[in-house]
Amino acid sequence: MQINQVSTQSCQVANLQLLSEGVYRVILKTHQGYFPDYWAGQYLEIVLTDGEACAFSIASPPVPGQKELELHIQKLSSSTNSIKLFNALEQGNISIRMPKGQCFLASVPAKPLVFIAAGTGFAQMKSMIEFSLKNPGHKDIHLYWGARSPEGFYMPNLPIHWASSQFHYHPVVSDALEQAGWKGRHGLLFEAVIDDKELIIGSEIFISGSPQMVYATFDALVAKNFQAKNIHSDVFAYAPRS
Ligand SMILES: Cc1cc2nc3c(=O)[nH]c(=O)nc-3n(C[C@H](O)[C@H](O)[C@H](O)COP(=O)(O)OP(=O)(O)OC[C@H]3O[C@@H](n4cnc5c(N)ncnc54)[C@H](O)[C@@H]3O)c2cc1C
Repeated sequence: MQINQVSTQSCQVANLQLLSEGVYRVILKTHQGYFPDYWAGQYLEIVLTDGEACAFSIASPPVPGQKELELHIQKLSSSTNSIKLFNALEQGNISIRMPKGQCFLASVPAKPLVFIAAGTGFAQMKSMIEFSLKNPGHKDIHLYWGARSPEGFYMPNLPIHWASSQFHYHPVVSDALEQAGWKGRHGLLFEAVIDDKELIIGSEIFISGSPQMVYATFDALVAKNFQAKNIHSDVFAYAPRS
């Protein structure tokens, strides 16, 4: 497996579309014609004018001669970086560094796959799921997507579109919102995963979200005898436990 070298590209923001709950779908086109090769699950950094870099998972699966990239970016009014970033996106030209990250699929394992995503953690999972679904040899795939409210599932129809006898979608709302008419599962995301232990034990497990969410999920799964060596996340590399 080849790890591709990181390079810097200047890009045009071809589309900036508000989906839901402050999450935007961003489409980038590179002035160089094609994006560098990357693996499903990797991320890029958008370099701000002051040199600071913001990381975002690449939501599109890799294809040869990639002309467009999709990102899912949450606008955070409390974050200076996020405000600077959206100013740059609205102006239409940005600089990116890619590919980054060691939590990816270079090929589809001959094992069931479990993807656990909080909020925009869905972006990384979308790339790996679409890559896996294209491979006829894939085993069962489970997506656990967690959000505080049903509106947090900012692409609600896509996992339903993926559904098949081998793709299983488990949306989980963390706040009990009877008034919102949510009839699905609610509670903590890792509790839903543990409830399904018999179904998914022995799978390769990928977790995406904040470091706090990833470590809480990892600890809960390991305490229930899921094997640590089968659990993967970028967080283990960029925010190691001291
Ligand atoms: C490897 C990586 C991938 C990321 N991918 C995305 C993404 O696809 N979409 C997005 O909107 N933000 C993503 N983020 C967060 C994003 O980089 C920051 O929100 C942004 O840079 C603003 O910076 P900040 O320092 O103000 O926020 P930070 O304090 O760095 O983070 C703000 C928010 O981002 C969330 N966050 C942190 N890590 C991740 C992650 N891996 N995936 C998803 N959310 C995360 C946190 O829970 C928090 O709510 C990612 C971060 C990292 C490290």
